[in-house]
Amino acid sequence: LAEKMKKSPAEVIKKLMMLGVLATINQEIDVDTATILAQEFGFEVEVKVEQDVEALFMQEPEDDPADLQPRPCVVTVMGHVDHGKTSLLDAIRETNVTATEAGGITQHIGAYQVEHNNKKITFLDTPGHEAFTAMRARGAKVTDIAILVVAADDGVMPQTVEAINHAKAAGVPIIVAINKIDRPDANPDRVKQQLTEYGLVAEEWGGDTVMVPVSAKTRQGLEDLLEMILLVAEMQELKANPDRPARGTVIEAELDKGRGPVATVLVQNGTLSVGDNLVAGTTWARVRAMMDYKGRRVKKAGPSTPVEVLGFSEVPHAGDQFFVVPDEKTARQIAEKRANRKREEEFKAAMPRVSLDDLFNQIKEGQVKELRVIIKADVQGSAEALKQALERLSTEEVKVNIIHQGVGAITETDIMLASASNAIIIGFNVRPDVNARRVAEKEKVDIRLYRVIYDAIEDVKAAMSGLLEPEY
Ligand code: GDP
Repeated sequence: LAEKMKKSPAEVIKKLMMLGVLATINQEIDVDTATILAQEFGFEVEVKVEQDVEALFMQEPEDDPADLQPRPCVVTVMGHVDHGKTSLLDAIRETNVTATEAGGITQHIGAYQVEHNNKKITFLDTPGHEAFTAMRARGAKVTDIAILVVAADDGVMPQTVEAINHAKAAGVPIIVAINKIDRPDANPDRVKQQLTEYGLVAEEWGGDTVMVPVSAKTRQGLEDLLEMILLVAEMQELKANPDRPARGTVIEAELDKGRGPVATVLVQNGTLSVGDNLVAGTTWARVRAMMDYKGRRVKKAGPSTPVEVLGFSEVPHAGDQFFVVPDEKTARQIAEKRANRKREEEFKAAMPRVSLDDLFNQIKEGQVKELRVIIKADVQGSAEALKQALERLSTEEVKVNIIHQGVGAITETDIMLASASNAIIIGFNVRPDVNARRVAEKEKVDIRLYRVIYDAIEDVKAAMSGLLEPEY
């Protein structure tokens, strides 16, 4: 701004201070402040709004109800370890390989589809609530129905309860598959009894939870289970609009030696086509090829379809949500912007913050060569006295640099200045206001409050020589 107005930065900062804004030379100021500031110098500000491409594509435009078509339901299998989740997923998959496809090996891509009564069901192939919850933590909602597998011989176990709670927290309807009913010690009624304690009451007992006795081993009851899944799905009236750019979620991803980054994605709305450009988390892709769960190349994937996608710039994370954008440049631009933002956040989190408690170690490790201090005091005289005394503590190794001193309470602006310049704040007969306290906590800025100048000096001296008693 100073450059544009052909003024020196010092002049601009001075004017800002007169307007009550404490700014450093490379600090951003908001539009309102800039406008007032420019007026002070006799300029008029023209505001140009830079379009945020990311925001433009992030929000999902509402679909016209007329464009919506039924879509297959997406199912996750959860339950206690060894109760048969994997066996059940395998049994369902194998049962549904039709004669013509027999011999065709199904690929493990993290999800598969089966057809029952001419209706498709999509199964997520990573059993367990950990995967489910990890995705949810990333904001992804992919599951329409949770199958809770409970072994009839073992009954409700700790992870059964966890799975129930996770499904409930996500608001996902539960169908109970009482498994291993082929076993002589199977006791389905005991399972039903136990589940009532967690609010799951079987339909035949007057409740509204569908419970199906099955055996992954003998394949008994699997048809019933699929039937019930379709029934519960029907009640949800699941719909999507296939005629729009795709969006969905990354289910699995890895770096393949021959093919580069490979991700299985679940299309949740729209249709994904070969040649599309998409953004997923901090990565982007120009879809080079797509494979279905049988390893067959496909050109298009509609709602609720899992496909393996080639063409990613890097390996995305499971749970990353993706959306298609018009061109490669936009995809790259959004992904890079997000990656930069993430790097900045990580850098900020990793940057060592000075604090008096740790000063000596940081000096020793060579991380700190200068102790920057902001002084706030109740009167100018005290601030000045403190400043001179502290500056005299400078040694060969560490210089004490008072970057700002002022009169009055410690404010948010002081904290931001301290955070930006990695300084500590010393308050003499003043306190931080509520806002400042909150921001200081977030920015991890060390604030020290004193009533006696001598104590402040002693503390800094002790900290510099590693003799400060830690504060609890
Ligand atoms: P997960 O840990 O929940 O995925 O459980 P698995 O699918 O790995 O199954 C654990 C064990 O139970 C394996 O030894 C399976 O062979 C066995 N099992 C799974 N389903 C059945 C079933 O329906 N009947 C019997 N008898 N054994 C089963």
